[in-house]
Amino acid sequence: MLNIRKKLLIILLIVLGIELTFIGFQFLKPTQTTDVTKTSASSRTSEKETATTADSSETNADPWIESSEEISFPILMYHSLAESEGNSLKIPPAEFREHMQWLKEHDYYTLTPEEAYRVLTENKKPAEKIVWITFDDGYLNNYEDGFPILKELDLNATINYIVDRQGASTYIDVPQMKEMKDSGLVHIESHTMNHLEVDKLAEADLAYELSESKAFFDNTLNQETLLLCYPAGRYNETSKTAAADAGYKMAVTTEPGYARASDGLFALKRVRISPGYDGEGFGQLITAYQ
Ligand SMILES: [Zn+2]
Repeated sequence: MLNIRKKLLIILLIVLGIELTFIGFQFLKPTQTTDVTKTSASSRTSEKETATTADSSETNADPWIESSEEISFPILMYHSLAESEGNSLKIPPAEFREHMQWLKEHDYYTLTPEEAYRVLTENKKPAEKIVWITFDDGYLNNYEDGFPILKELDLNATINYIVDRQGASTYIDVPQMKEMKDSGLVHIESHTMNHLEVDKLAEADLAYELSESKAFFDNTLNQETLLLCYPAGRYNETSKTAAADAGYKMAVTTEPGYARASDGLFALKRVRISPGYDGEGFGQLITAYQ
């Protein structure tokens, strides 16, 4: 009787042992599969593909879309929001609202400067359709008429400000800059100290215009200022090098076209917005380049 019990107990232990071993393998399986995936990924030719596979299997937190072709996108160039009266740099606020509504209705993602930099350096984008809205000079009407529209529609935009315009009645002041920055929607970047054509400046003056303005925005707004906007769109090879030396990461021009990294990060093209476009006309204008 005792012998049979012992035998049964031994058999039970053996069965339990087999079960435990089996369970152990089950636990090991997913790890092994992941390793296999990683190994096969890293043996492929493209380094990018490896990075993507690793990203998606490990964190799954980066929803940015990678592209096999170079990403290009429109950087819109606005100036003043006012009745145009024949001035091609002035866009009536009602027209600006139609443009912004068109972007919203067509599912455009409006980039921050940091996001634009990431698109250009990593060739990834946060949404299928992306756009970067920029305003040059820093007119008061950007704050009074533009900011409420951006808030209402929850859109990002960037104002390229001229530092010496502070105190002028038709330009934004520092408290307004801070209020817009604090909203998280409007970003302030540099349009130099005095709006001089930088391609014509002596070395010391060029360094002053670029470095002093960057320091002003860095310190006043407690940020790392990334973008330089060349006054009147004027620049040359020296300006590009000086901008990089001053610590900027990118610069925008007034040359027409979509922005793409292959033009160089210090010679980014933009799409000029002129007065007279309703929502659909604006849509055709900004999709015409591609
Ligand atoms: Zn300007």
